[in-house]
Amino acid sequence: MFGDSDEWPVWCPDCGALTCKPIRWLLENTRLTCSGCGAQLAWYRERMERDLEDAYRAVVNFSKGLRVEKSVR
Ligand SMILES: [Zn+2]
Repeated sequence: MFGDSDEWPVWCPDCGALTCKPIRWLLENTRLTCSGCGAQLAWYRERMERDLEDAYRAVVNFSKGLRVEKSVR
């Protein structure tokens, strides 16, 4: 599962450069400077919280959809 200090990748919609920030940092801030073009990338805190929940849900869903193949001996 993702922890607060795990890094979350952020791609600049303008130049495509990747900037990684810890999840906790992204929840506590609402803008960062693109490492590629220097643009200010801004977001709403609610948006980050919702997308993080979606990510957690996706991780849980993956395990729910696994096939369990037991070896028969
Ligand atoms: Zn950029």
